[in-house]
Amino acid sequence: MTKRIISIVVPVFEEAENLPALCRGISAAMGQVTDFEYELLLIDDGSRDESWEVIANLHDLDERVKGLRLSRNFGHQAAVTAGYRYATGTAVITMDADLQHPSELLPQMIQKWRGGYDVVSMVRDPAAHQGLLKALSSTLFYRFINALSSTKIKAGVADFRLLDRRVVKQLNALKERGRFVRGLISWVGFNEAEIHYTPNPRFAGRTKYSLGKMLHLAVDAISSFSTAPLRMSFYAGLAVNVLCLLLMGYAFYNKMHEDKDLTQWASTFLTMLFLSGIQLLMIGVIGMYVGKIFEEVKHRPVYVTEKELGIALRPRRVHQRSKTVSAPAGTPGLIVMPERNG
Ligand code: UDP
Ligand code: MG
Repeated sequence: MTKRIISIVVPVFEEAENLPALCRGISAAMGQVTDFEYELLLIDDGSRDESWEVIANLHDLDERVKGLRLSRNFGHQAAVTAGYRYATGTAVITMDADLQHPSELLPQMIQKWRGGYDVVSMVRDPAAHQGLLKALSSTLFYRFINALSSTKIKAGVADFRLLDRRVVKQLNALKERGRFVRGLISWVGFNEAEIHYTPNPRFAGRTKYSLGKMLHLAVDAISSFSTAPLRMSFYAGLAVNVLCLLLMGYAFYNKMHEDKDLTQWASTFLTMLFLSGIQLLMIGVIGMYVGKIFEEVKHRPVYVTEKELGIALRPRRVHQRSKTVSAPAGTPGLIVMPERNG
């Protein structure tokens, strides 16, 4: 009887020095899971170092290691999205390439899944050292998004998790382009278990999440999962108008009864500054959502593939088949339904 497969998806952006140790760790951990085979899908997100060559070598040594190279750097979330679409396993695990996510925990995650959970989320220990900027921005971000959105996203849950095939299927069927994967998983629902863990320090290299990329992810997440900022601009406008009316009444009263002018330059100047600030802020908020709609209606793919190694499952687009794109590589990952080839 052929064993069922568990897929392990790892997004890779310039992680050449980390990949051999990552593969060894995963192979050792999965050696303990005797009744499942595994495939390791390394998604090269347009690395400019030797990551793809290392992936090709690892694939030559072990055919369970498979590679998919995106045509440029599409970002972590796009690489994870590609991984979910190409994975063949009954369960799909995602983890980082820098060994921060301990591979020793894989058997425990699989154990939980077999206990009947569809989503096994790995929750980072809050005491774990992250660096001040990362810790602060992460805390603020989760507070903010959970206050604004009805889809709750737990702090410390990054992209280290296991999903049952039925969750992956739902995720792959979601059509939106702006992919904040942990939010989409929370939206999809199902039965979730949590395991707490302490991340390791990064094995080699530097973080690939620049401040710009983090900010982009945060804006993407908030505009995908909440329209509260739009409503808040309306209420802010309302509050300012009420305040203005009250001030007008006050000024009028002073003029009529005490024959006093309100103040000199300050009243005009400060009101102008305040109102133009509020207006700019509101235009910015509206612009953020208009931009989001613009991105979505263009229907561009989330990623474009360039090369692949050992891939058995090729997603197919269900809308807008492009003439310029052909298998095996170059498949744009827009709206895809998994389909087994051969
Ligand atoms: N990554 C990616 N594309 C990017 C940035 C990061 O595929 O544009 C990958 C990276 O190689 C790693 C994972 O995403 O496997 C998490 O990135 P990183 O460890 O740099 O983030 P941090 O742990 O510092 O938040
Ligand atoms: Mg990392």
